[in-house]
Amino acid sequence: MAVPQNKVSPSKRNMRRAHDALVPGSYNECPNCGELRRPHHVCGSCGHYGGREVVATVEDVDLDEE
Ligand SMILES: [Zn+2]
Repeated sequence: MAVPQNKVSPSKRNMRRAHDALVPGSYNECPNCGELRRPHHVCGSCGHYGGREVVATVEDVDLDEE
């Protein structure tokens, strides 16, 4: 197994970790229902994308229909 040749100083360790912060996810308001949704993703609550419904929502699906 590869073993580090030198101990990393606290300064170098902290410099490496300076880029490790997690970024919060980005959200936009759905233009159709106003719910928060991720950009470039279908709205999870109304199924709209690009100004039209692309995924039928649970309330719209009739399971008894043949
Ligand atoms: Zn929506």
